[in-house]
Amino acid sequence: MNFNPADTNILIIEDEIAIAEGLVDLCELNGYKVKHAADGETGLAEALTGAYGLILLDLMLPGIDGFTVCDKIREQDKSVPIIILSAKNSDEDIINGLKYGADDYISKPFSVPMLLARIEAVLRRSTQMMESEGRMVAGHLKVNFREYAGTRGKEELSFTRKEIEILEYLWNNRDRAVPRAELLKKVWGYENVESVDTRTVDIHITKLRKKIEDEPSHPKLLVTFRGEGYQMRSSPECEKST
Ligand code: CA
Repeated sequence: MNFNPADTNILIIEDEIAIAEGLVDLCELNGYKVKHAADGETGLAEALTGAYGLILLDLMLPGIDGFTVCDKIREQDKSVPIIILSAKNSDEDIINGLKYGADDYISKPFSVPMLLARIEAVLRRSTQMMESEGRMVAGHLKVNFREYAGTRGKEELSFTRKEIEILEYLWNNRDRAVPRAELLKKVWGYENVESVDTRTVDIHITKLRKKIEDEPSHPKLLVTFRGEGYQMRSSPECEKST
């Protein structure tokens, strides 16, 4: 099943009125319902009502900044998709955005078709995730994809939405090497992988290993495949099949 724009409320948290108006028009033209908040505080309060299917979030905002807004939304809502739109585009900002649980990060200025494609990709995955059941068990690691939670032995784990999407994809394709380009297409929804920075994949894999591996520097479950991609093994004892 696909998502229906008319059923999707998008919240735009952006203080620059010209940009906000452009985004509102763009989303409405494409059939979405839209609400605009011009500062972090209003945006956060609005986001926490749970009425939104997607949040577009600027970083430099008066009052509470975008990273804090993202962090506070994630404290209460792990599932609402968040796309950061920002003029800040250093590695550190992108890593921070992902760390705080954003699903995607788009640098300003952005092209309209690209923004719409990313919005659709995020919403499609969000719809698919809500529709499928799922969990994984590998050795003493257990993860419930729908609850964004799991256990490694006695240790309780919690995951971001993006981490769960990666885990679920790799688990559904377990014991097979999955190239980075495939992850970028299937998990991030990028059509044109050549122009995308693969560091995003590696940053997430590193974060995931810290949670699911007993020794993150010597992974036994989520292994690197010939430097090109990643492979989820169905158990830590499973032989590496290349
Ligand atoms: Ca701003």
